[in-house]
Amino acid sequence: PKYKLFTAGPVACFPEVLEIMKVQMFSHRSKEYRKVHVDTVERLRDFLEVKKGEVLLVPSSGTGIMEASIRNGVTKGGKVLVTIIGAFGKRYREVVETNGRKAVVLEYEPGKAVKPEDLDDALRKNPDVEAVTITYNETSTGVLNPLPELAKVAKEHDKLVFVDAVSAMGGADIKFDKWELDVVFSSSQKAFGVPPGLAIGVFSERFLEIAEKMPERGWYFDIPLYVKYLKEKESTPSTPPMPQIFGLNVVLRIIEKMGGKEKWLEMYQKRAEMIREGVKEMGLDILAEEGYESPTITAVVTPKGIKGDEVYEAMRKRGFELAKGYGSVKEITFRIGHMGYMTFDDIREMLDNLREVINELKKQKGLT
Ligand code: PMP
Repeated sequence: PKYKLFTAGPVACFPEVLEIMKVQMFSHRSKEYRKVHVDTVERLRDFLEVKKGEVLLVPSSGTGIMEASIRNGVTKGGKVLVTIIGAFGKRYREVVETNGRKAVVLEYEPGKAVKPEDLDDALRKNPDVEAVTITYNETSTGVLNPLPELAKVAKEHDKLVFVDAVSAMGGADIKFDKWELDVVFSSSQKAFGVPPGLAIGVFSERFLEIAEKMPERGWYFDIPLYVKYLKEKESTPSTPPMPQIFGLNVVLRIIEKMGGKEKWLEMYQKRAEMIREGVKEMGLDILAEEGYESPTITAVVTPKGIKGDEVYEAMRKRGFELAKGYGSVKEITFRIGHMGYMTFDDIREMLDNLREVINELKKQKGLT
């Protein structure tokens, strides 16, 4: 389909990424492949500021590492404090519980971020939790949690910190060592603008020590086994999605050419600000509370009487694929993703069309 994509992921990919993914396949045990694998890991270590932990490329989507964090890092029957600000926090809770661990929940209304003082309070009341989970960027509500502050509180209580950075990595800053994170994971199909099929995971030394002793952690998502394969074979235990890894390598080179991480993240901020300003000028509200707006996706509250899906469908007719509302706010929101390959002109054009769509819908329903 020929749409301009403002999706929540998969997102539009850079042309250079699509180009490299066309290459003929070869062995993932060859020295040619090993070179690309190690170079991609090294580039990610730079981007995510990881000197001490391990960066792993994992053949799965991001949720694979969500599951791996629990199976490798929390004892059977052990407790996890799950912070929930939307649909993906709820998924973490399900992953905890379906793997035979217990979830203690700190939950907020859609649009809100986790407050450090609430986390502190919850950890005082539940001193026996082994880990805290944080959705860095809640894709369903367009909220960016204050990760460094939250991680600091969790560390004051000496807890492991697991971060779902699926829609944050590549669009919001991550300083893995400095913020003392233990697990951070993402997927290729989000802010790096690569097709789906590859997960990226970062693991601290402390987490790896715990994981090595964890019984029955399974085979496919045995994180210490991935580390062993990275060190000894410069590859993965099972076959990696090679085209995605080539694509990611190319994106990391594009970032370097652009002037590095700061410049790249500035581009993301600029996209987000442009979209928020445009939407507010139309008289629409952003779901995220002020100060916690996402750099990668914006959830917009529809005017009373108009459903999120109606805006989505009308924009599709004009050649723009936005994202529908998701989770408990599905009816009253639609989302504008700003990840992957797009230009500022694309954004202007999308906003011009959105303005017309909102006016047309209002007129149709006699809302003006
Ligand atoms: N967490 C968040 C915050 C997400 O946005 C998504 C995907 N939309 C996921 C987890 C799941 O990622 P994946 O589909 O790559 O497993």
